[in-house]
Amino acid sequence: MSNTLSTDFANVLGESAVGKSSIVHRFVKDSFTDSRESTIGAAFLTQTIQIDTNTTVKFEIWDTAGQERYRSLASMYYRNAQAALVVFDITQELSLDKAKYWIKELQKQANSDIVIALVGNKLDLEEERKISKDEAQAFANELGLMYAEVSAKTGENVKDCFRDIALKLPLEE
Ligand code: GDP
Repeated sequence: MSNTLSTDFANVLGESAVGKSSIVHRFVKDSFTDSRESTIGAAFLTQTIQIDTNTTVKFEIWDTAGQERYRSLASMYYRNAQAALVVFDITQELSLDKAKYWIKELQKQANSDIVIALVGNKLDLEEERKISKDEAQAFANELGLMYAEVSAKTGENVKDCFRDIALKLPLEE
């Protein structure tokens, strides 16, 4: 017997240019381009992953633009989300503050059982790192969130990050 879980509206939130679209494209299409245009509004993408012989999880992902003017639009997408990635750029200090803002929003407005992963992107730029892994991990622990570091550019840890989220989703009866 096989079990297919659907994550309704897994969301990707965070400051503009932290790499939200790039992470989603790496996960869904296993590709990366340096010249991605800023997402306008929201893009909807799906990807299915197998977590064991009997279980697959279908991610239905809203890649929401992080720009201020789309803020009210974004809340429409995360209200029913079962999972959310809140992304920051490990080379941009302010992007972690923005991630904190999104986490607060999610905790106020989303389902109380939403699985939230704090994701530090651009791991390939380790030499330019401004936010230490310990600092981000400690922050995630404090709020009871998963923490992952990824690179959309090289693909490092992107699939594993989604897989870890999938493993935390409540199984449907
Ligand atoms: P979004 O606005 O958060 O959706 O960000 P984008 O996905 O459009 O990416 C913003 C910029 O960062 C683009 O120039 C990307 O090519 C670049 N970028 C995204 N992810 C990575 C990464 O993992 N490493 C590096 N070096 N650049 C990245």
